[in-house]
Amino acid sequence: MDKFPERFIERIKALLPADEVEAFLEHCTEPLPKVVRLKNINAPVPENWHLKPTAVPEGFFIERDNQTEIALGKTLEHFTGDIYSQSLSSMLPVVVLNPQPDEKILDLCAAPGSKTSFLAQRMGHTGVIVANEPSSSRSKKLAANLDRTGCFNTVVIQTDGTILNSFIGQEFDRILLDAPCSSEGYGRRDNTFFSKMWSEPKIFLAAKLQKRLIESAWEMLSPGGIMVYSTCTSAPEENESVVQHLLKTYPNTVELLPTELNVPHAPGIKEWEGEQFAPAIVQHAQRFYPHLRSETWNSESFFVVKLQKKEAVKRLPPNKPSHTTEVNFFKKNQNAEVITKLAKQFGLEKSWAESLMDGKPAFYIKQNDLYLTTPEATRFMQSNLFRRVGLKISDKDDNLTTCIAQKLAPLATKNVADLDAEQTTRWLAGFDIPLKTEKFSSLKNGTAVLVRHQAFGLGWGKVINGKIKNKLDRDLVF
Ligand code: SAM
Repeated sequence: MDKFPERFIERIKALLPADEVEAFLEHCTEPLPKVVRLKNINAPVPENWHLKPTAVPEGFFIERDNQTEIALGKTLEHFTGDIYSQSLSSMLPVVVLNPQPDEKILDLCAAPGSKTSFLAQRMGHTGVIVANEPSSSRSKKLAANLDRTGCFNTVVIQTDGTILNSFIGQEFDRILLDAPCSSEGYGRRDNTFFSKMWSEPKIFLAAKLQKRLIESAWEMLSPGGIMVYSTCTSAPEENESVVQHLLKTYPNTVELLPTELNVPHAPGIKEWEGEQFAPAIVQHAQRFYPHLRSETWNSESFFVVKLQKKEAVKRLPPNKPSHTTEVNFFKKNQNAEVITKLAKQFGLEKSWAESLMDGKPAFYIKQNDLYLTTPEATRFMQSNLFRRVGLKISDKDDNLTTCIAQKLAPLATKNVADLDAEQTTRWLAGFDIPLKTEKFSSLKNGTAVLVRHQAFGLGWGKVINGKIKNKLDRDLVF
Protein backbone atom coordinates (compact mmCIF):
# COMPACT_ATOMS: atom_id res chain seq x y z
CA MET A 1 0.00 0.00 0.00
CA ASP A 2 3.02 2.30 0.51
CA LYS A 3 3.26 2.70 -3.21
CA PHE A 4 0.00 4.69 -3.29
CA PRO A 5 -0.48 8.22 -1.94
CA GLU A 6 -3.21 8.32 0.72
CA ARG A 7 -5.29 10.73 -1.33
CA PHE A 8 -5.22 8.36 -4.29
CA ILE A 9 -6.58 5.52 -2.14
CA GLU A 10 -9.31 7.80 -0.76
CA ARG A 11 -10.34 8.69 -4.30
CA ILE A 12 -10.43 5.07 -5.44
CA LYS A 13 -12.57 4.18 -2.41
CA ALA A 14 -15.01 6.93 -3.42
CA LEU A 15 -15.00 5.75 -7.03
CA LEU A 16 -15.37 1.98 -6.82
CA PRO A 17 -17.68 -0.41 -4.97
CA ALA A 18 -16.02 -1.41 -1.66
CA ASP A 19 -15.47 -5.02 -2.77
CA GLU A 20 -13.46 -3.93 -5.85
CA VAL A 21 -10.99 -1.52 -4.25
CA GLU A 22 -8.45 -4.16 -3.24
CA ALA A 23 -8.52 -5.88 -6.63
CA PHE A 24 -8.06 -2.54 -8.37
CA LEU A 25 -5.05 -1.58 -6.24
CA GLU A 26 -3.53 -5.02 -6.68
CA HIS A 27 -3.76 -4.88 -10.46
CA CYS A 28 -3.09 -1.23 -11.25
CA THR A 29 0.69 -1.63 -11.05
CA GLU A 30 0.88 -5.13 -12.49
CA PRO A 31 2.84 -5.18 -15.81
CA LEU A 32 0.60 -5.16 -18.87
CA PRO A 33 0.65 -8.23 -21.10
CA LYS A 34 2.43 -7.64 -24.43
CA VAL A 35 0.00 -6.96 -27.24
CA VAL A 36 0.72 -6.32 -30.91
CA ARG A 37 -1.51 -4.95 -33.62
CA LEU A 38 -0.95 -6.76 -36.91
CA LYS A 39 -1.08 -4.97 -40.26
CA ASN A 40 -2.34 -8.16 -41.87
CA ILE A 41 -3.92 -10.65 -39.49
CA ASN A 42 -3.59 -13.44 -42.07
CA ALA A 43 0.13 -12.99 -42.74
CA PRO A 44 2.43 -15.66 -41.26
CA VAL A 45 4.45 -14.74 -38.15
CA PRO A 46 7.71 -16.35 -36.91
CA GLU A 47 7.27 -19.88 -35.52
CA ASN A 48 8.43 -18.91 -32.06
CA TRP A 49 5.74 -16.23 -31.70
CA HIS A 50 2.62 -17.40 -29.89
CA LEU A 51 -0.35 -15.19 -30.60
CA LYS A 52 -3.69 -15.25 -28.80
CA PRO A 53 -6.74 -13.34 -30.06
CA THR A 54 -8.05 -10.37 -28.09
CA ALA A 55 -11.32 -8.44 -28.10
CA VAL A 56 -9.90 -6.25 -30.90
CA PRO A 57 -9.63 -8.23 -34.17
CA GLU A 58 -6.25 -6.72 -35.14
CA GLY A 59 -4.76 -7.05 -31.62
CA PHE A 60 -3.05 -10.19 -30.27
CA PHE A 61 -1.47 -11.13 -26.96
CA ILE A 62 2.05 -12.17 -27.87
CA GLU A 63 4.56 -14.43 -26.16
CA ARG A 64 7.87 -15.35 -27.78
CA ASP A 65 10.25 -18.20 -27.02
CA ASN A 66 13.20 -15.82 -27.24
CA GLN A 67 11.48 -12.97 -25.39
CA THR A 68 14.66 -11.60 -23.83
CA GLU A 69 16.93 -12.12 -26.85
CA ILE A 70 15.57 -9.38 -29.03
CA ALA A 71 13.12 -6.65 -28.12
CA LEU A 72 9.93 -6.55 -30.23
CA GLY A 73 10.89 -3.04 -31.31
CA LYS A 74 14.08 -4.44 -32.87
CA THR A 75 12.42 -7.10 -35.01
CA LEU A 76 12.10 -6.87 -38.79
CA GLU A 77 8.33 -7.10 -38.39
CA HIS A 78 8.42 -3.90 -36.34
CA PHE A 79 10.93 -2.20 -38.65
CA THR A 80 8.65 -2.70 -41.65
CA GLY A 81 5.46 -1.70 -39.83
CA ASP A 82 3.95 -5.20 -40.00
CA ILE A 83 3.42 -5.04 -36.23
CA TYR A 84 2.75 -2.21 -33.82
CA SER A 85 3.14 -2.69 -30.05
CA GLN A 86 0.04 -1.15 -28.55
CA SER A 87 -2.01 -1.78 -25.44
CA LEU A 88 -5.56 -3.06 -25.93
CA SER A 89 -7.19 -0.03 -24.34
CA SER A 90 -5.28 2.23 -26.71
CA MET A 91 -6.96 0.45 -29.65
CA LEU A 92 -10.47 1.00 -28.23
CA PRO A 93 -11.05 4.62 -29.24
CA VAL A 94 -10.35 3.72 -32.88
CA VAL A 95 -12.77 0.79 -32.77
CA VAL A 96 -15.43 3.03 -31.22
CA LEU A 97 -14.80 5.90 -33.67
CA ASN A 98 -15.22 3.40 -36.51
CA PRO A 99 -13.59 5.45 -39.32
CA GLN A 100 -14.77 4.74 -42.86
CA PRO A 101 -12.80 4.80 -46.13
CA ASP A 102 -12.50 8.22 -47.80
CA GLU A 103 -13.59 10.16 -44.70
CA LYS A 104 -12.00 13.29 -43.27
CA ILE A 105 -10.76 12.60 -39.74
CA LEU A 106 -9.04 14.72 -37.10
CA ASP A 107 -6.79 13.16 -34.47
CA LEU A 108 -6.33 16.19 -32.22
CA CYS A 109 -3.69 14.82 -29.81
CA ALA A 110 -1.92 12.32 -31.98
CA ALA A 111 1.66 11.53 -30.89
CA PRO A 112 3.21 9.02 -30.91
CA GLY A 113 0.67 7.90 -33.50
CA SER A 114 -0.57 4.54 -32.18
CA LYS A 115 -4.15 5.51 -32.86
CA THR A 116 -3.45 7.55 -36.01
CA SER A 117 -1.78 4.56 -37.65
CA PHE A 118 -4.62 2.27 -36.55
CA LEU A 119 -7.17 4.75 -37.96
CA ALA A 120 -5.25 4.75 -41.27
CA GLN A 121 -5.16 0.94 -41.29
CA ARG A 122 -8.95 0.75 -40.77
CA MET A 123 -9.47 3.31 -43.59
CA GLY A 124 -7.27 1.36 -46.03
CA HIS A 125 -5.05 4.49 -46.15
CA THR A 126 -7.76 6.45 -48.01
CA GLY A 127 -9.40 9.81 -47.25
CA VAL A 128 -7.44 12.01 -44.89
CA ILE A 129 -6.42 12.02 -41.26
CA VAL A 130 -5.18 15.32 -39.87
CA ALA A 131 -2.85 14.31 -37.04
CA ASN A 132 -1.98 17.12 -34.63
CA GLU A 133 0.74 17.19 -31.98
CA PRO A 134 2.07 20.42 -30.46
CA SER A 135 5.26 19.00 -28.97
CA SER A 136 8.10 19.13 -31.43
CA SER A 137 9.90 16.01 -30.21
CA ARG A 138 6.67 14.00 -30.02
CA SER A 139 5.59 15.24 -33.43
CA LYS A 140 8.87 13.85 -34.82
CA LYS A 141 8.03 10.47 -33.29
CA LEU A 142 4.55 10.70 -34.77
CA ALA A 143 5.97 11.34 -38.25
CA ALA A 144 8.44 8.43 -37.87
CA ASN A 145 5.64 6.03 -36.91
CA LEU A 146 3.49 7.19 -39.82
CA ASP A 147 6.46 6.60 -42.16
CA ARG A 148 7.03 3.14 -40.76
CA THR A 149 3.40 2.14 -41.10
CA GLY A 150 3.00 3.76 -44.54
CA CYS A 151 0.23 6.23 -43.67
CA PHE A 152 0.04 8.17 -46.96
CA ASN A 153 -3.35 9.64 -46.01
CA THR A 154 -2.03 11.67 -43.07
CA VAL A 155 -1.43 15.37 -42.65
CA VAL A 156 0.84 16.16 -39.72
CA ILE A 157 0.33 19.49 -37.99
CA GLN A 158 1.99 20.89 -34.91
CA THR A 159 -0.40 23.25 -33.14
CA ASP A 160 -2.00 23.80 -29.74
CA GLY A 161 -5.27 21.88 -30.14
CA THR A 162 -7.14 24.43 -28.03
CA ILE A 163 -6.80 27.06 -30.78
CA LEU A 164 -6.93 24.88 -33.88
CA ASN A 165 -10.63 25.74 -34.21
CA SER A 166 -9.61 29.32 -35.04
CA PHE A 167 -8.33 28.07 -38.41
CA ILE A 168 -10.61 25.15 -39.27
CA GLY A 169 -14.38 25.11 -39.78
CA GLN A 170 -17.00 22.50 -38.78
CA GLU A 171 -15.73 20.04 -41.34
CA PHE A 172 -14.48 16.73 -39.96
CA ASP A 173 -16.59 13.59 -40.37
CA ARG A 174 -15.01 12.14 -37.23
CA ILE A 175 -12.71 13.41 -34.51
CA LEU A 176 -10.60 11.52 -32.02
CA LEU A 177 -9.79 13.45 -28.86
CA ASP A 178 -7.41 11.17 -27.00
CA ALA A 179 -6.63 13.80 -24.44
CA PRO A 180 -3.41 14.44 -22.51
CA CYS A 181 -4.31 13.35 -18.99
CA SER A 182 -2.98 12.49 -15.53
CA SER A 183 -2.23 9.03 -16.99
CA GLU A 184 -3.13 6.76 -14.06
CA GLY A 185 -3.09 3.88 -16.54
CA TYR A 186 0.67 4.38 -16.71
CA GLY A 187 0.99 2.55 -13.39
CA ARG A 188 0.96 -0.72 -15.37
CA ARG A 189 4.07 0.39 -17.29
CA ASP A 190 5.95 1.87 -14.34
CA ASN A 191 5.07 0.60 -10.88
CA THR A 192 6.59 3.67 -9.23
CA PHE A 193 4.09 5.91 -11.05
CA PHE A 194 1.71 6.39 -8.12
CA SER A 195 4.41 7.07 -5.53
CA LYS A 196 6.54 9.30 -7.77
CA MET A 197 4.35 10.96 -10.38
CA TRP A 198 0.70 10.97 -9.27
CA SER A 199 -0.75 14.13 -7.73
CA GLU A 200 -4.26 15.55 -7.43
CA PRO A 201 -3.27 19.04 -8.72
CA LYS A 202 -2.11 17.32 -11.95
CA ILE A 203 -5.66 16.01 -12.35
CA PHE A 204 -7.14 19.49 -11.93
CA LEU A 205 -4.67 20.96 -14.41
CA ALA A 206 -5.30 18.24 -16.99
CA ALA A 207 -9.09 18.71 -16.63
CA LYS A 208 -8.75 22.43 -17.39
CA LEU A 209 -6.86 21.71 -20.63
CA GLN A 210 -9.25 18.88 -21.60
CA LYS A 211 -12.26 21.22 -21.34
CA ARG A 212 -10.60 23.66 -23.72
CA LEU A 213 -9.62 20.84 -26.08
CA ILE A 214 -13.12 19.35 -26.18
CA GLU A 215 -14.63 22.78 -27.00
CA SER A 216 -12.15 23.29 -29.81
CA ALA A 217 -12.73 19.76 -31.16
CA TRP A 218 -16.51 20.17 -31.05
CA GLU A 219 -16.23 23.34 -33.12
CA MET A 220 -14.36 21.44 -35.85
CA LEU A 221 -16.79 18.51 -36.06
CA SER A 222 -19.27 18.58 -38.92
CA PRO A 223 -23.00 18.48 -38.07
CA GLY A 224 -23.90 14.78 -37.83
CA GLY A 225 -20.22 13.97 -37.21
CA ILE A 226 -18.94 11.55 -34.57
CA MET A 227 -16.37 12.27 -31.88
CA VAL A 228 -14.68 9.94 -29.41
CA TYR A 229 -13.26 11.36 -26.21
CA SER A 230 -10.82 9.14 -24.32
CA THR A 231 -8.27 9.26 -21.51
CA CYS A 232 -6.10 6.70 -19.74
CA THR A 233 -7.12 7.77 -16.27
CA SER A 234 -9.91 7.00 -13.84
CA ALA A 235 -10.21 10.58 -12.49
CA PRO A 236 -13.84 11.77 -12.98
CA GLU A 237 -12.67 15.41 -13.30
CA GLU A 238 -10.96 14.37 -16.56
CA ASN A 239 -13.76 12.12 -17.78
CA GLU A 240 -17.45 12.56 -16.91
CA SER A 241 -16.87 16.22 -15.88
CA VAL A 242 -15.32 17.06 -19.25
CA VAL A 243 -18.25 15.52 -21.13
CA GLN A 244 -20.70 17.33 -18.86
CA HIS A 245 -18.84 20.58 -19.62
CA LEU A 246 -19.41 19.94 -23.34
CA LEU A 247 -23.14 19.31 -22.79
CA LYS A 248 -23.44 22.58 -20.90
CA THR A 249 -21.35 24.65 -23.29
CA TYR A 250 -23.14 23.51 -26.46
CA PRO A 251 -26.68 22.72 -25.26
CA ASN A 252 -28.86 20.60 -27.56
CA THR A 253 -26.05 19.73 -29.94
CA VAL A 254 -24.56 16.69 -28.18
CA GLU A 255 -25.96 13.20 -28.31
CA LEU A 256 -24.24 10.35 -26.48
CA LEU A 257 -24.12 7.06 -28.37
CA PRO A 258 -23.48 3.49 -27.25
CA THR A 259 -19.88 2.40 -27.89
CA GLU A 260 -21.04 -1.06 -28.99
CA LEU A 261 -17.99 -2.62 -27.33
CA ASN A 262 -18.16 -6.03 -25.79
CA VAL A 263 -15.39 -5.68 -23.23
CA PRO A 264 -15.50 -5.83 -19.39
CA HIS A 265 -16.14 -2.32 -18.11
CA ALA A 266 -18.09 -0.21 -15.64
CA PRO A 267 -20.59 2.51 -16.61
CA GLY A 268 -19.96 6.22 -16.13
CA ILE A 269 -20.22 7.33 -12.50
CA LYS A 270 -23.31 9.17 -11.25
CA GLU A 271 -21.65 11.89 -9.18
CA TRP A 272 -18.29 13.12 -8.00
CA GLU A 273 -17.53 15.59 -5.23
CA GLY A 274 -21.05 17.02 -5.38
CA GLU A 275 -21.33 17.19 -9.18
CA GLN A 276 -24.22 15.06 -10.54
CA PHE A 277 -23.64 13.76 -14.06
CA ALA A 278 -26.28 13.67 -16.82
CA PRO A 279 -28.02 10.25 -17.08
CA ALA A 280 -26.80 9.90 -20.70
CA ILE A 281 -23.19 10.13 -19.50
CA VAL A 282 -23.78 7.48 -16.84
CA GLN A 283 -25.46 5.25 -19.41
CA HIS A 284 -23.06 5.58 -22.34
CA ALA A 285 -19.61 6.48 -20.97
CA GLN A 286 -17.44 3.45 -20.32
CA ARG A 287 -14.74 2.99 -17.67
CA PHE A 288 -12.13 0.27 -18.05
CA TYR A 289 -10.19 -0.89 -15.02
CA PRO A 290 -7.14 -3.12 -14.64
CA HIS A 291 -9.06 -5.61 -12.47
CA LEU A 292 -11.97 -6.06 -14.91
CA ARG A 293 -10.67 -8.72 -17.30
CA SER A 294 -11.61 -11.62 -19.55
CA GLU A 295 -9.82 -14.19 -21.73
CA THR A 296 -9.53 -11.56 -24.45
CA TRP A 297 -9.20 -8.42 -22.35
CA ASN A 298 -6.56 -7.13 -19.92
CA SER A 299 -5.87 -3.40 -19.80
CA GLU A 300 -4.99 -0.33 -17.79
CA SER A 301 -7.47 2.29 -16.52
CA PHE A 302 -9.22 3.90 -19.48
CA PHE A 303 -12.28 5.99 -20.30
CA VAL A 304 -14.18 6.19 -23.59
CA VAL A 305 -17.28 8.02 -24.69
CA LYS A 306 -18.85 8.38 -28.15
CA LEU A 307 -20.60 11.62 -29.08
CA GLN A 308 -22.59 12.78 -32.09
CA LYS A 309 -23.05 16.40 -33.10
CA LYS A 310 -26.73 16.88 -33.82
CA GLU A 311 -26.41 20.30 -35.39
CA ALA A 312 -23.88 23.01 -36.19
CA VAL A 313 -22.82 25.25 -33.32
CA LYS A 314 -22.74 29.03 -33.56
CA ARG A 315 -19.20 30.30 -33.96
CA LEU A 316 -17.12 32.89 -35.71
CA PRO A 317 -15.87 31.92 -39.18
CA PRO A 318 -12.37 30.39 -39.09
CA ASN A 319 -9.39 32.67 -39.73
CA LYS A 320 -7.83 32.59 -43.17
CA PRO A 321 -4.13 31.71 -43.02
CA SER A 322 -2.01 34.84 -43.32
CA HIS A 323 0.18 33.25 -45.96
CA THR A 324 -0.01 30.04 -47.90
CA THR A 325 2.72 27.53 -48.56
CA GLU A 326 4.15 27.17 -52.03
CA VAL A 327 3.22 23.71 -53.30
CA ASN A 328 3.12 22.33 -56.82
CA PHE A 329 0.20 19.98 -57.31
CA PHE A 330 0.74 17.34 -59.94
CA LYS A 331 -1.63 17.01 -62.84
CA LYS A 332 -2.77 13.60 -64.07
CA ASN A 333 0.04 13.23 -66.63
CA GLN A 334 2.70 14.28 -64.11
CA ASN A 335 1.32 11.67 -61.65
CA ALA A 336 1.58 9.09 -64.41
CA GLU A 337 5.16 10.16 -65.15
CA VAL A 338 6.34 9.53 -61.58
CA ILE A 339 4.50 6.22 -61.42
CA THR A 340 5.97 5.02 -64.72
CA LYS A 341 9.47 6.14 -63.84
CA LEU A 342 9.61 4.15 -60.60
CA ALA A 343 7.77 1.21 -62.19
CA LYS A 344 10.43 1.03 -64.93
CA GLN A 345 13.33 1.56 -62.56
CA PHE A 346 12.36 -1.28 -60.20
CA GLY A 347 10.17 -3.52 -62.40
CA LEU A 348 6.97 -2.65 -60.47
CA GLU A 349 3.36 -3.03 -61.55
CA LYS A 350 1.94 0.25 -62.88
CA SER A 351 -0.59 0.13 -60.04
CA TRP A 352 2.08 0.20 -57.31
CA ALA A 353 0.95 3.55 -55.88
CA GLU A 354 -2.73 2.53 -55.71
CA SER A 355 -1.80 -0.73 -54.05
CA LEU A 356 0.02 1.13 -51.26
CA MET A 357 -3.09 3.07 -50.32
CA ASP A 358 -6.20 1.24 -51.59
CA GLY A 359 -7.13 4.34 -53.55
CA LYS A 360 -6.06 7.17 -55.80
CA PRO A 361 -2.52 8.51 -55.40
CA ALA A 362 -1.74 12.23 -55.52
CA PHE A 363 1.82 13.50 -55.91
CA TYR A 364 3.12 16.98 -55.14
CA ILE A 365 6.41 18.82 -54.89
CA LYS A 366 7.34 20.97 -51.91
CA GLN A 367 10.73 22.66 -51.71
CA ASN A 368 12.02 20.31 -54.42
CA ASP A 369 10.97 17.15 -52.53
CA LEU A 370 8.42 14.76 -54.00
CA TYR A 371 5.54 13.51 -51.80
CA LEU A 372 2.77 10.96 -52.20
CA THR A 373 -0.61 11.31 -50.54
CA THR A 374 -4.36 11.01 -51.16
CA PRO A 375 -6.42 13.59 -53.13
CA GLU A 376 -8.44 14.35 -49.95
CA ALA A 377 -5.25 15.25 -48.06
CA THR A 378 -4.05 17.74 -50.68
CA ARG A 379 -6.67 20.28 -49.60
CA PHE A 380 -4.67 20.85 -46.42
CA MET A 381 -1.57 21.82 -48.37
CA GLN A 382 -2.77 25.34 -49.05
CA SER A 383 -2.80 26.39 -45.43
CA ASN A 384 0.41 27.01 -43.58
CA LEU A 385 -0.65 24.91 -40.60
CA PHE A 386 0.74 21.63 -41.76
CA ARG A 387 4.16 20.22 -41.15
CA ARG A 388 3.81 17.44 -43.67
CA VAL A 389 1.13 16.03 -45.98
CA GLY A 390 1.45 12.36 -46.97
CA LEU A 391 4.85 10.68 -47.10
CA LYS A 392 8.04 11.88 -48.76
CA ILE A 393 9.12 9.81 -51.76
CA SER A 394 12.39 11.40 -52.85
CA ASP A 395 14.46 14.57 -52.87
CA LYS A 396 15.50 16.76 -55.80
CA ASP A 397 18.39 14.40 -56.65
CA ASP A 398 16.00 11.43 -56.84
CA ASN A 399 17.30 9.92 -53.60
CA LEU A 400 14.46 7.78 -52.27
CA THR A 401 13.33 7.93 -48.65
CA THR A 402 13.75 4.79 -46.57
CA CYS A 403 10.03 4.60 -45.97
CA ILE A 404 9.03 4.41 -49.66
CA ALA A 405 11.94 2.09 -50.45
CA GLN A 406 10.74 -0.22 -47.65
CA LYS A 407 7.25 -0.34 -49.15
CA LEU A 408 8.47 -0.85 -52.74
CA ALA A 409 11.20 -3.43 -52.14
CA PRO A 410 8.85 -6.42 -51.63
CA LEU A 411 7.11 -5.53 -54.94
CA ALA A 412 10.28 -5.05 -57.04
CA THR A 413 11.49 -7.36 -59.83
CA LYS A 414 14.45 -5.29 -61.04
CA ASN A 415 17.34 -3.47 -59.36
CA VAL A 416 16.63 -5.22 -56.11
CA ALA A 417 19.14 -6.87 -53.78
CA ASP A 418 18.11 -9.86 -51.66
CA LEU A 419 20.23 -10.00 -48.52
CA ASP A 420 20.79 -13.08 -46.38
CA ALA A 421 20.29 -12.99 -42.60
CA GLU A 422 23.88 -12.00 -41.82
CA GLN A 423 23.94 -9.24 -44.42
CA THR A 424 20.59 -8.02 -43.10
CA THR A 425 22.01 -7.61 -39.60
CA ARG A 426 24.92 -5.62 -41.01
CA TRP A 427 22.61 -3.55 -43.19
CA LEU A 428 20.38 -2.62 -40.24
CA ALA A 429 23.50 -1.62 -38.31
CA GLY A 430 24.21 0.89 -41.08
CA PHE A 431 27.03 -0.91 -42.94
CA ASP A 432 27.54 -1.06 -46.71
CA ILE A 433 27.23 -4.53 -48.26
CA PRO A 434 30.04 -5.86 -50.52
CA LEU A 435 28.73 -7.31 -53.81
CA LYS A 436 30.76 -10.50 -53.72
CA THR A 437 28.23 -13.12 -54.71
CA GLU A 438 26.93 -13.85 -58.20
CA LYS A 439 23.36 -12.97 -57.31
CA PHE A 440 24.37 -9.31 -57.30
CA SER A 441 26.23 -9.45 -60.61
CA SER A 442 23.43 -7.77 -62.60
CA LEU A 443 23.59 -4.61 -60.49
CA LYS A 444 25.40 -1.84 -62.35
CA ASN A 445 27.69 0.72 -60.82
CA GLY A 446 25.84 3.95 -59.94
CA THR A 447 22.35 2.47 -59.88
CA ALA A 448 19.89 2.78 -57.02
CA VAL A 449 18.76 -0.60 -55.68
CA LEU A 450 15.96 -1.58 -53.36
CA VAL A 451 17.12 -3.85 -50.57
CA ARG A 452 15.14 -6.61 -48.92
CA HIS A 453 15.37 -9.75 -46.83
CA GLN A 454 12.68 -12.27 -47.74
CA ALA A 455 9.46 -10.21 -47.79
CA PHE A 456 10.85 -7.43 -45.57
CA GLY A 457 11.71 -4.15 -47.28
CA LEU A 458 14.96 -2.85 -45.78
CA GLY A 459 15.33 0.42 -47.69
CA TRP A 460 17.57 1.31 -50.59
CA GLY A 461 21.22 1.75 -51.48
CA LYS A 462 23.47 2.77 -54.35
CA VAL A 463 25.87 0.43 -56.11
CA ILE A 464 29.30 2.02 -55.83
CA ASN A 465 32.65 0.36 -56.45
CA GLY A 466 31.58 -3.20 -55.67
CA LYS A 467 29.40 -2.31 -52.67
CA ILE A 468 25.81 -1.41 -51.95
CA LYS A 469 26.21 1.92 -50.25
CA ASN A 470 23.81 1.96 -47.31
CA LYS A 471 21.22 4.77 -47.60
CA LEU A 472 19.18 3.73 -44.58
CA ASP A 473 17.76 6.73 -42.72
CA ARG A 474 20.27 7.26 -39.88
CA ASP A 475 17.46 7.51 -37.31
CA LEU A 476 16.50 3.93 -38.17
CA VAL A 477 19.92 2.32 -37.78
CA PHE A 478 19.68 -0.39 -35.10
N1 SAM B 1 -3.30 9.46 -29.33
C1 SAM B 1 -1.91 9.19 -29.03
C2 SAM B 1 -1.57 7.78 -29.44
O1 SAM B 1 -2.43 6.92 -29.42
O2 SAM B 1 -0.40 7.52 -29.80
C3 SAM B 1 -1.60 9.45 -27.58
C4 SAM B 1 -1.94 10.86 -27.18
S1 SAM B 1 -1.41 11.29 -25.57
C5 SAM B 1 -2.60 10.58 -24.59
C6 SAM B 1 -1.82 12.96 -25.53
C7 SAM B 1 -0.99 13.86 -26.44
O3 SAM B 1 -1.56 15.17 -26.39
C8 SAM B 1 0.46 14.00 -26.03
O4 SAM B 1 1.29 13.64 -27.11
C9 SAM B 1 0.61 15.49 -25.73
O5 SAM B 1 1.87 16.03 -26.12
C10 SAM B 1 -0.51 16.08 -26.57
N2 SAM B 1 -0.96 17.42 -26.10
C11 SAM B 1 -0.63 18.09 -24.97
N3 SAM B 1 -1.18 19.30 -24.99
C12 SAM B 1 -1.89 19.43 -26.12
C13 SAM B 1 -2.63 20.47 -26.73
N4 SAM B 1 -2.79 21.66 -26.13
N5 SAM B 1 -3.16 20.25 -27.96
C14 SAM B 1 -3.03 19.07 -28.57
N6 SAM B 1 -2.32 18.03 -28.05
C15 SAM B 1 -1.76 18.21 -26.85
